[in-house]
Amino acid sequence: MPNAKALSQFPNEKQVLRELQRIIFGKHVKCPHCQRQIYVIELKKNRLWRCRKCRKRFSITSVNWLKGMKISGTKLWMLVWCWQQKLGVLQVSGLCLTSIPTIRRYYELFRDNLQINCDDIILEGIVQMDEMFVKGAFILGAKDIIRKRIKMNVVFKKSPEKHDAMNMIFQHVKPGSTLFTDGSKIYRKSEDWWPITHKSECHSKFEFSQTSEVEGMWGVLRTFIRRMYHHVTLKKLVKIIAEFEARFSFKELFKYALNFLKNSLSSVPLAF
Ligand SMILES: [Zn+2]
Repeated sequence: MPNAKALSQFPNEKQVLRELQRIIFGKHVKCPHCQRQIYVIELKKNRLWRCRKCRKRFSITSVNWLKGMKISGTKLWMLVWCWQQKLGVLQVSGLCLTSIPTIRRYYELFRDNLQINCDDIILEGIVQMDEMFVKGAFILGAKDIIRKRIKMNVVFKKSPEKHDAMNMIFQHVKPGSTLFTDGSKIYRKSEDWWPITHKSECHSKFEFSQTSEVEGMWGVLRTFIRRMYHHVTLKKLVKIIAEFEARFSFKELFKYALNFLKNSLSSVPLAF
């Protein structure tokens, strides 16, 4: 393999399969159909099992989003790492020797299977808020500039209304915070509705300083989307925004491949 030396940083196939088994089935593999352990026999080490009672086979890829996986475990691990590092698909293709459509497909799978909840994010202290227009919608964004936390909402309207902004403030800005916005009327008198100090500035007068962080965030978002996801429909945009938020608020999920795999593959998520 041409990239062998650089690739030695990744775990080998045996190690990956062992980790995947541990995440998905635990140390002692139970049958996913009857939940019993005693009838399970291992057909392929850390990979394929059969339940003698149910007469069914199951594998690490048959009960989750890895279904139909055609790449090796090591390659999966590498793709997760590349995605966590926000590497562009061309770079990844050169490193992993994998086709670009395959990389894009896995990037989407990773993104869609993040088990996170950004609804509870609370911004406090000094918060900047702004809006960005995209085709067919707009995005409301807010940033807690001290803790570097962000919250974004995609609103499927042509132009933002006051209650869209207020709703976001009610849900995500802690009482007592100071809110900086542009002069848009959607933020006007927001301090009458929520216990915050509101300061607005007029962009046409070249006052950019107090919302510069949240405006910078739009640039980061644009670059992120262009590099990672190429074509973006409105439906996908919501999920991409969720990933973007997660990268700020759940940093540990993007640190090690194992952390992400544990998060996205661990057993059945609870409904409540
Ligand atoms: Zn069974």
